[in-house]
Amino acid sequence: RTILRELTTLLKKNPDIPTIYTLPPTDPSVFQKRYLKKMRDLGEGHFGKVTLYRYDPSNDGTGEFVAVKALKQEAGNAAQGWMKEIEILKSLYHCNIVKYKGLCPDAVRQEVQLIMEYLPQGSLREYLPKHKVSLADCLMFAQQICQGMEYLHSQRYVHRDLAARNVLVENQSLVKIGDFGLTKYIPEGEIYYRVREDGDSPVYWYAIECLKELKFSFASDIWSFGVTLYEILTRCDPRQSPPSKFIEMTGDNEEQMTVMKLIKLLEGNQRLPRPKDCPDAIKLLMDQCWHANPDSRPSFTELIEKFESARS
Ligand code: ADP
Ligand code: MG
Repeated sequence: RTILRELTTLLKKNPDIPTIYTLPPTDPSVFQKRYLKKMRDLGEGHFGKVTLYRYDPSNDGTGEFVAVKALKQEAGNAAQGWMKEIEILKSLYHCNIVKYKGLCPDAVRQEVQLIMEYLPQGSLREYLPKHKVSLADCLMFAQQICQGMEYLHSQRYVHRDLAARNVLVENQSLVKIGDFGLTKYIPEGEIYYRVREDGDSPVYWYAIECLKELKFSFASDIWSFGVTLYEILTRCDPRQSPPSKFIEMTGDNEEQMTVMKLIKLLEGNQRLPRPKDCPDAIKLLMDQCWHANPDSRPSFTELIEKFESARS
């Protein structure tokens, strides 16, 4: 406080002294709102809305494309988690994880937007049904997801929302994990994170222990990877999606499926079926990811080795 007072008196005496308040921002990771030109909406999930902008400070249409994620208005109390999501993404460096570019503070609306690289093909959910992707390329995508996840786990984060909708496509030979909204840090020595909030969760991608006890661990990410692998091999066909398949498996054609019914089904050792062109060895891998006992599931490091030998 005294420093501030001294600074103010100093400034009154010498109005020419530049201060941090009058200097233009030079930090390349701070994007100014007035230079962001909206191009189109890219998609939205439970918490966020992602929009394509051109960042064009020279105002001549030559600026780069960026994907801008904003917290949805309704998300309300998710604001704390939002800053956490930005911090986590900022700390991650891997070729299979979407690149953080910076933030865009909005002083008037008192909010911060996340600026990341733009992946022109959108998520696997948009890409796979529209392109003829070979089995070999599906397995290559799966292996790249494992590589990004192996890195994430090495940083002691659990993702908690691994699904095709959260994997972005750069081009026909590169995918990146792109949504860290539910990611949690697991302190050294602990093995799982227990959620307190009971929000709207992607239950069909959840391991049995997550449904029963809300226990999220490295092993529950492996389960979700198994479901993601299933989605990739069904080419994200909506008629074979995990929600529609699980509902079909309960026998009654109700639209509504309770978590209780899903737990019963999984406890009876029922699992998603083998996708059409899925080799037996890969279905076996999926089933290992869906082992009822978390300790019996493989790690991402083991999965990478298996994909390497399956693909050669
Ligand atoms: P939420 O946290 O709300 O689920 P996501 O980060 O998953 O938000 O983004 C929602 C959708 O927006 C994605 O499924 C994808 O289609 C699109 N999207 C997100 N990030 C990008 C990006 N960097 N480039 C292109 N499309 C993106
Ligand atoms: Mg998402």
